[in-house]
Amino acid sequence: MDKKFIPISVPNFPGNEEKYVSEAISSTWVSTAGPLIPKFEKAMADYMGTEYTVATNSGTSALHLALIDSGIGPGDEVIAAALTFIAAVNPIRFCGAEPVFVDCDKYFCMDPDSVQYFIDNYCEMKDGKLINKTTGAHVKGMIPVHVFGNMANMERLMEIAEKYNLFVLEDATESVGTFVTEGKYKGHHLGTIGHYGALSFNGNKVMTTGAGGMAICHDEQTRHHMAILSEEAQDMSKKEDNLLFIHTEVGYNYRMNNIAAALGLAQLENLEKFVETKNKNYKLYKELLDGKNGLKMIDYTPGIRSSMWFYQLYLDNCTITRNELIEGLAERKIQSRPIWLLNPDQAPYKNSQCMPLTNARDYVGKIVNIPCSSNLTEEDVKRVCEEILDLTK
Ligand SMILES: *Cc1c(COP(=O)(O)O)cnc(C)c1O
Repeated sequence: MDKKFIPISVPNFPGNEEKYVSEAISSTWVSTAGPLIPKFEKAMADYMGTEYTVATNSGTSALHLALIDSGIGPGDEVIAAALTFIAAVNPIRFCGAEPVFVDCDKYFCMDPDSVQYFIDNYCEMKDGKLINKTTGAHVKGMIPVHVFGNMANMERLMEIAEKYNLFVLEDATESVGTFVTEGKYKGHHLGTIGHYGALSFNGNKVMTTGAGGMAICHDEQTRHHMAILSEEAQDMSKKEDNLLFIHTEVGYNYRMNNIAAALGLAQLENLEKFVETKNKNYKLYKELLDGKNGLKMIDYTPGIRSSMWFYQLYLDNCTITRNELIEGLAERKIQSRPIWLLNPDQAPYKNSQCMPLTNARDYVGKIVNIPCSSNLTEEDVKRVCEEILDLTK
């Protein structure tokens, strides 16, 4: 019998997805003015125990809106992650500012030690501003990414931010469903701790709206600013506008549409179930693979309930290379992938300033992401493990 193909991460629509989407279409509200968009913003805010949310057409645009609101521009710098998807960095450039890259910790997230190393060795405080002595730029903020459903060390990063007057934009695009269970931020969902947060609902993320995202902040003025920026900066709350199309600044077409919001409302109903399945499958992978044939399943950050978006298999002391494993699995109809190339090694950022990247470089060569969809069955996990153990014996 032909073996079934097991993809790495695909959308899962087990509930009201088709119903809500066809209701949205029947209503003819399909664009950015529909009633389900504020409903989805409120539903996500309630789920996360927060208040101020702006639904966008992607996670990238949510990051961009937050950075515009932060006021960064040419001559400014932002501390950024070397090891992550490039969408966490590009919006800095959209604003005309520059990234400075730092290393990750053992949970793939921004390492506070590497941030402090940059500050201690390359920066000085002048009139309450952190100045990069190499470039003369004003370092205004940092974008820690909660990679794969892990959590960056927010306690230390927020302390550093406060000490040096930096804003913190949490890229929580990979960690929807992850919240803190211990310490100072106990009870907080990721994305609600920093000054700004960004979520993604792309097709391969924990839950999806097709494409979509959400910006999070902590006051009405900021929310309003990001919301009007997402609609060409037409401020309908201004009395004099009255359909005159008065635009207060350069805006963008970044608002989520009503069909996407319909999909999001249905997905949110199943989010806890998705996370439960992902947690269960992770445990099974760990049981079947960890410590065998030089393989290691990397743990998630302690002190959180993780969404476990992606699973990380580390080739510690293996008979085959990362690429051999990925190719071998592909021949057996199982999709897997290496981790990203480092951002400072990508063409747009080859000349960017960069701290030593010891952890990030080690992970780049040795990590394989294995199937993690929220509809992956126990049988699927067992087959993936059998093939991996066979290829690495
Ligand atoms: C997915 C992702 C984004 C961007 O989200 P989109 O919705 O695809 O625009 C940003 N940062 C990281 C780390 C991501 O994984």
